[in-house]
Amino acid sequence: MGKIVGEGSDRMFYDTHAHLNAEQFKENLEEVVKEAKEAGVEHINVIGFDRETNLLAQEIAAKYDNLYPTAGLHPTDVNEFTEQDLVVLEEYIKKDVTVGIGECGLDYYWHNDNKDRQKYFFIAQIELARKYHKPLVIHVRDAFQDTYDLLASEMKKGFFSGVMHCFSGSPEMAKRFLDLGLYISLGGPVTFKNAVTPKEVARVVPLDKLLIETDCPYLAPHPYRGKQNKPSYLPLIAKAIAEIKEVSIEEVANYTTLNAKRLFLK
Ligand SMILES: [Zn+2]
Repeated sequence: MGKIVGEGSDRMFYDTHAHLNAEQFKENLEEVVKEAKEAGVEHINVIGFDRETNLLAQEIAAKYDNLYPTAGLHPTDVNEFTEQDLVVLEEYIKKDVTVGIGECGLDYYWHNDNKDRQKYFFIAQIELARKYHKPLVIHVRDAFQDTYDLLASEMKKGFFSGVMHCFSGSPEMAKRFLDLGLYISLGGPVTFKNAVTPKEVARVVPLDKLLIETDCPYLAPHPYRGKQNKPSYLPLIAKAIAEIKEVSIEEVANYTTLNAKRLFLK
């Protein structure tokens, strides 16, 4: 029986994308944060995506010194967002404690009849990223080409940083986002036996451009697939990447933590 990942070692992980502000963690947050620490998950971003979860991310992160809130407006909800939501968002982004902007991005899976509205809110958040020098947390589903085109044209107007969260595109697409200067983040799917593409992406993305995340409570890694995900499962994702890249798990831990600190904690 091998050693439990994280136990008795000084390897340190950074979960760059966790929804600890989700309903599922309401009753057991304390326990979940403690378990994460025990597994070596030292830093956790708490990701907001609408008015309610942005506020909750701030409240939860204020209670723990290793939790960091982001604030954003998610593309699937843009039909409900107004200009006032952007005003409120900017107030969060201004705050020193807020480490990133997002989730934001484009999602044509749920709605593809409001592309212009999605782009409007995405660009508004890119402008905030430039103005406050904070990274974007970018969500894409069924909209890779439009997202790339939009990011590439915005990048020409002035640099901003960011991460393609839980990247589900092709290795070729990953390279194009890397060329824009963005990071690629991988989550649970890289551990799934039948998931070919995320494994190929893990192979091509250099360690110094890679981040890892759980996206909990969703997308639990193997062998917990289908169950509720949590940050303490993050080492399983690092382990899968280490095997694919034929490096040690320590190396994956060190690089991804350093990258995430550089991007989010400055
Ligand atoms: Zn998410």
